[in-house]
Amino acid sequence: MKVDILIIGAGPAGMAAALAAAASGARIAVLDDNPAAGGQIWRGGPQAHLPPLARDYRQRLQAQANIEHLPGSRVVALAGPKALLVEDAERGTVIEYDRLILCTGARELLLPFPGWTLPGVTGAGGLQALIKGGMPVAGERIVIAGSGPLLLASAATAKDNGARVLNILEQAPWSAVAGFAAQLPRWPHKLLQSFGLLHPGYRAGSHVLEALGDGRLEAVRVSIGGTIREIACERLACGFGLIPNLQLGQALGCRIERDAIAVDAWQATTLAGVYAAGESTGFGGSEKALVEGAIAGHAAVGERNAAQRLWSQRQRWHGFAHALNRAFVLGDAVKGLARPDTLICRCEDVPLSAVCDHQGWSQAKMASRCGMGACQGRTCGGAAQTLFGWQPPAPRPPFSPARIETLLQLAPHPD
Ligand SMILES: Cc1cc2nc3c(=O)[nH]c(=O)nc-3n(C[C@H](O)[C@H](O)[C@H](O)COP(=O)(O)OP(=O)(O)OC[C@H]3O[C@@H](n4cnc5c(N)ncnc54)[C@H](O)[C@@H]3O)c2cc1C
Repeated sequence: MKVDILIIGAGPAGMAAALAAAASGARIAVLDDNPAAGGQIWRGGPQAHLPPLARDYRQRLQAQANIEHLPGSRVVALAGPKALLVEDAERGTVIEYDRLILCTGARELLLPFPGWTLPGVTGAGGLQALIKGGMPVAGERIVIAGSGPLLLASAATAKDNGARVLNILEQAPWSAVAGFAAQLPRWPHKLLQSFGLLHPGYRAGSHVLEALGDGRLEAVRVSIGGTIREIACERLACGFGLIPNLQLGQALGCRIERDAIAVDAWQATTLAGVYAAGESTGFGGSEKALVEGAIAGHAAVGERNAAQRLWSQRQRWHGFAHALNRAFVLGDAVKGLARPDTLICRCEDVPLSAVCDHQGWSQAKMASRCGMGACQGRTCGGAAQTLFGWQPPAPRPPFSPARIETLLQLAPHPD
């Protein structure tokens, strides 16, 4: 398959990039590992309620004859100077492109604490995704903990589906949360949104200590403003912020700065013909992702005036991103929750004590198998980076489990 523009990720950034580039008539492909376009925030499912804006983007994406959406597809490896090996449920394909736009988004940061592998404990965004995907939670008691606005969004989804959200425990202190809230009138739409998310059980300066239960979660031990309490519940959802999905950018050789893909004013990376937009260039929510995606799309087809007209809008949402990132910095309390026997790598059953004395990620991996399981370090790699400051090296292909027939596409063809 050969396209002018290949976009990785069909979240808000990827959809906006495709639509912005489409008017030029370029042949565009947007691939995403999810079954439907929308990314994390506009994830579909039997219990998902998509806002009109999300439906509008999806419909326009479908209506464009020169945009091909490839759902359920993952990037497996680089397949040449301007080509990627991609796999879906049926086949492996090499896609050649002229320009590439990385809109790979972010994933949740999960930090280990005693009991975090018990059934009933999930990420905060993970709980939201499960509920949208159809998991029933009506009547269940849920505690949500960690950091950032995703806790509130997750609580709202759980409540709308009949769960009782007992507490939302934000690790940042009240002063930081109040400072952030005081700035919200600068973004009136966000202020309005936040009113809808207010919850009587929201507590700042509070965090989880331990998940308790025999074979499944029965209660959580938490610190609420320094007071230790035990709360009986059926579910605990913990998310400590987001980590950008950098693997593909790293593998291609794009410069990474402050844990995000570095881009210039045109959303161009340091690699010629490769652009990046959305959460892979830093967090800031769907509005930042949409405007960055549109700038990248216009720039990739040479429409610099159209891209430049969006710069002031992007600056506005970068202001929001800065306020967000300043307010929800992780404190030391949540970095010291794991005990020596707490698993850090849940795929390979590696406890904290087996890795904490090593000098870096590669050494810890070789000595303990940490990060060598099914998720390939996507979970424990982020935790190790937060707990020990270890930088993960660029990933090696295959970037995700792949079929042998797919990998054979990389073998040289006999002449
Ligand atoms: C679990 C989770 C839940 C969230 N829920 C909310 C919410 O409710 N409200 C809110 O305001 N914000 C939420 N966010 C924040 C949200 O990510 C952003 O606001 C917004 O969706 C960012 O858009 P994006 O296009 O940059 O990335 P995303 O929306 O993350 O889209 C990126 C897409 O790229 C795909 N992808 C990544 N790498 C590859 C690859 N190699 N091959 C194929 N596909 C790939 C991903 O599966 C994803 O579909 C959530 C974040 C996470 C991690």
